[in-house]
Amino acid sequence: MNQATLVLVKPDGLKKSLTGNILTRLSETKLEIVATKMARVSRELAADHYRHLKGKPFFDDVVKYLQGEFHDRRKVMAMVYWGNDAIKKVRDIAGSTNPEEADPVSIRGSYGRITTHGVFENVIHASSDEKDAEREIKLWFKPEDIIVDLYPTKEAVIKDLKTKSWA
Ligand code: UDP
Ligand code: MG
Repeated sequence: MNQATLVLVKPDGLKKSLTGNILTRLSETKLEIVATKMARVSRELAADHYRHLKGKPFFDDVVKYLQGEFHDRRKVMAMVYWGNDAIKKVRDIAGSTNPEEADPVSIRGSYGRITTHGVFENVIHASSDEKDAEREIKLWFKPEDIIVDLYPTKEAVIKDLKTKSWA
């Protein structure tokens, strides 16, 4: 069954110049990339992305990590991969959450580390199920950023909306 899944190259992945390696590894899945962008990550966006971790002792650090505060890279690369069984295929190549327990040839096993404050710097995010994937994709992307129709949309005419275009 075709599925969409959100992948983020986290700030440590960007800082370590791993984007190419990560994309190469993910190309083994033969999935299609249907959206991509570089995104600045506000505290609100990071906290919303990780809202299932609210209340955990590491929540604040994980939010700061995604915002790039530990890596001087205040951005992430966000992508939507799409195709048959996409969620599991990407999670399998990503590896387990804890990089020390992850399969050593997975992305997280190869490139992740546990920091002295205990955060798992595991290089990429990958959605864990269809419900999370939908929520996360809608959080990071607008419908027009994605080149396939994934979820129902609605149209509205917004009067006096201020937008930027090329001068
Ligand atoms: N995390 C952490 N310590 C933990 C659990 C999670 O530092 O004990 C971080 C890690 O970067 C992880 C993120 O929080 O990727 C989100 O956690 P989740 O349980 O959703 O893991 P994931 O879906 O990313 O494998
Ligand atoms: Mg998760």
